[in-house]
Order: sequence, then C-alpha cells, then structure tokens
Amino acid sequence: MKSDIRVCSAWREAHDSPVYTLSDSCPDCGADAENSAPAPFDPNDPHGKYRRALKRRRR
Ligand SMILES: [Zn+2]
Repeated sequence: MKSDIRVCSAWREAHDSPVYTLSDSCPDCGADAENSAPAPFDPNDPHGKYRRALKRRRR
C-alpha cells in the first residue's frame, strides 16, 4: 500500500523545505497537499542494474 504522507504542493513558494502532512491541505499555508513526490529515480528501472554492473566492471 502507498504511503499516506502528503506534501504541501506550494512548499517551494511558501516554505523553505517540504512540509509534510497527513491531511488534504497544508497545515501551515493551507495549500493543497499532494502525494509526496515519487522517488527521484525509478527503483524498478530495468536497465539500472546493467548500468551499475557495467560501471563496476570498468574499475
Ligand atoms: Zn504549505
């Protein structure tokens, strides 16, 4: 199951750092809260494994 943690959708404008909440809106600025951002990389990237293996082999 996915995490219920949400992040203020306007945190870049309204806050210095992401504001996390469990409710539908930011408790700080009242903006909509959205599902926390997906991971910056895809852990299921089918090619990542090979890229990393290649890197290791070159050393
Ligand atoms: Zn906010």
